[in-house]
Amino acid sequence: MFTEADALKVVEKLYGFDGKRIVEMLLKVNSGKTIDEIAQETGIRVNDVRRLLYEMAQDGFVSYLRSQKGESLWYNYRWYTNSTMLKTALYRRIENIVRILRERLEYEMSTSFYVCPIDSTIYTFEEAFENNFQCIHCQSDLIEFDNRQIITYLKELLEKLRKFIA
Ligand SMILES: [Zn+2]
Repeated sequence: MFTEADALKVVEKLYGFDGKRIVEMLLKVNSGKTIDEIAQETGIRVNDVRRLLYEMAQDGFVSYLRSQKGESLWYNYRWYTNSTMLKTALYRRIENIVRILRERLEYEMSTSFYVCPIDSTIYTFEEAFENNFQCIHCQSDLIEFDNRQIITYLKELLEKLRKFIA
């Protein structure tokens, strides 16, 4: 399973050093922080803080609580995160990658491909068949494309990722 440190590494890869700093700061507080507080305490510009928080929230790494300021129409947003939330977001992200890779693998395994030897355009069997196995750009005869290496690579990658989320 993942550690908080794993999650922070991924956060830095995805959202940069500033994203990581914001998450580290939010991990230390219990009641969350407003965008202004985060900007003041980290020195990161308000607009950048806002953009990073929205991006990270879309991926589930942070979230916010909304409260009304008295009777006014203004809302107060306090952003927060915690260890469980970070790990869950990371888990989901990897699950999503596994799903995409699996679909890609199924596609590679179920279709044969053809390639133009001149301009390297790739065709599925159906596309090649429709064009009498000739390239639509240069009319060269297409050759069958061997995708066994891609399949092997995808299988290895999936195996590694599955271990992560097992
Ligand atoms: Zn061609």
